[in-house]
Amino acid sequence: MIFEEEMNISLSANSKEKLKNKYREERKKRLRPEGNDQYIEIKEQHSYYLEDPYMKVEERDPCRDHVQFTFIGGGFAGLVTGARLVEAGLNNVRIIEKGGDFGGTWYWNRYPGAQCDTASFVYMPLLEETGHMPTEKYVHGPEILEHCQRIGKKYGLYENALFHTQVNHVEWLEKDQRWLIKTNRGDEFTSQFLGMGTGPLHVPKLPGINGIESFAGHSFHTSRWDYEYTGGSAHGGRMTNLSDKRVAVIGTGATAVQCIPHLASVCKELHVFQRTPSSVDVRNNETIDPEWFKEIATPGWQQKWLDNFTANQTGSQVEEDLVKDGWTEISRRVREKLMDLPKEDLVPAKMWEAYEDADLEKMSEIRARIDTIVEDSEVATNLKAWYGQLCKRPCFHDQYLDAFNEPSTNLVHTDGRGVEKITEKAVVFSGKKYEVDCIIFASGFEVGTPLERRTGFDPIGKGGKKLSEHWAEGMRTLHGLQMRGFPNAFIVQATQGANLISNYPHNLTDSAKTIASIVGHMQEARLKVVETSQEGEASWIELLMSGSGAMLGSQDCTPGYYNNEGIDPGPARKSFVGYPYGPVAFFKYIEEWRNAGVFDGLEFE
Ligand code: NDP
Repeated sequence: MIFEEEMNISLSANSKEKLKNKYREERKKRLRPEGNDQYIEIKEQHSYYLEDPYMKVEERDPCRDHVQFTFIGGGFAGLVTGARLVEAGLNNVRIIEKGGDFGGTWYWNRYPGAQCDTASFVYMPLLEETGHMPTEKYVHGPEILEHCQRIGKKYGLYENALFHTQVNHVEWLEKDQRWLIKTNRGDEFTSQFLGMGTGPLHVPKLPGINGIESFAGHSFHTSRWDYEYTGGSAHGGRMTNLSDKRVAVIGTGATAVQCIPHLASVCKELHVFQRTPSSVDVRNNETIDPEWFKEIATPGWQQKWLDNFTANQTGSQVEEDLVKDGWTEISRRVREKLMDLPKEDLVPAKMWEAYEDADLEKMSEIRARIDTIVEDSEVATNLKAWYGQLCKRPCFHDQYLDAFNEPSTNLVHTDGRGVEKITEKAVVFSGKKYEVDCIIFASGFEVGTPLERRTGFDPIGKGGKKLSEHWAEGMRTLHGLQMRGFPNAFIVQATQGANLISNYPHNLTDSAKTIASIVGHMQEARLKVVETSQEGEASWIELLMSGSGAMLGSQDCTPGYYNNEGIDPGPARKSFVGYPYGPVAFFKYIEEWRNAGVFDGLEFE
């Protein structure tokens, strides 16, 4: 072991400094000046990586009509917004989705072992409204996809939906005071309102590895799992076709952590190419007892759980922890450290130190756990993550580490360098060729690239101004939801709002309430157009930037999509920040804003 002290989890000042130096060294190895440009945009000769392996594209006639509300994206954002709008009395909501059904992330990510990492009770939206009881504390992908379909059916959202359809033109028609929407299926229709919830992680990316196009074997991205090739199914059948196959997985992020155990148990050979290890803590999944669920499912239960999880996870003083998992544990540890501080030490520097201590201890435990599971000590050492737990997406799994005890599984630790090249038959690192039949790219999704590249459209607002122009100096919104010059338009996402990363859908369900309250108010008062005022948007941005401006993974963190690959994003930093007083304060603020009924910061016509 590099740091024997890690077994003695209470760290001395000396070992803390050693650890921090180690973190810095490891980070340096991974910094790449090209940032996001190290990845390949999937298009042209690579575009087959984007094809839908799950559903056939059905022929249909193009739409030429007018609807009340169009929502681009049929994942959680579109579904919860659609549901709240229907509740508010709208009867003509159209969701446009590039997949063949609702589900978004859960439509595409059907890789084996896909499972939510945040407890189902707070992760799955509208449980109370739909009466669904999750079967596990962390349910698997198919159940979440089914839940998306359940929401779609309950609120009648299928009737008007356009699947396998991509929007390619969105324009505000000033004379008609409505949006014009065009798609790749020849649709051309108008809409009074426009919602956009295209998701932060929906465009797969490939690593820019030399020779990637020369590979002659089979290959696919984890978000387009090819069960026809592997055998098995998203519901858990064994992938028996792989029993005579040599397979490479490139990447060891949250997706790889979930699918590798399923591959390790079946492949003839499995080579896992790791650039940066993930931190993998215990999962402790459990099935839900319906009797227990009946007891907790009293009216208003889900909102209570949501509020409780967010408060626990973001460090508020709360008496009970309903979810009790790895996310809330992080904050509990920090809270305990802070409570141990004498009153005179409750100053930012000391509080930061307390946070850092809690984090160093936690990560030391996570590393020490690897030695207790992984039999080969060199492999165990190479699986250790040297950064703060929230620098990258924390992972939780009870079979991932065991997968490396399978004789057929080989960890290729590239020590921050990544795969060297790909040839017709092999993946190469450090001059050694690993011949494989199949490469699975667990290489993640585009995050920091221009928005219009990820969505395929650049909304044109008042006066012909494009959204990319409005955001030329960084994202600008009121509440992370509305933009000046883009009337009747809403974006549904997390930044410039609560920015709650541990439970992303909570941001969306809350935004849906805000949209429904604005639109509901307009219906009642017979108003046609709403837009954020110049002042409303400007003062919101000023407020956001008055905070630390801190991004998720700070610039000291190991590079990744949380911190723009470790490169200062400049003005684009605005699209990484949230409400300066944290998610609990944001949800409280926006609830009061909605309830006040004054809609401060908006202008109506
Ligand atoms: P990530 O972006 O997290 O991981 C991509 C992986 O590819 C990283 O390990 C990266 O290494 C590696 N990589 C990139 N380039 C190379 C290269 N040239 N050579 C070798 N390796 C390379 O993508 P994921 O799909 O794993 O996860 C994306 C996000 O999706 C998660 O962070 C999470 O938010 C979400 N997710 C959520 C789940 C859940 O809630 N249950 C499950 C799965 C995903 P490096 O780290 O060095 O960049």
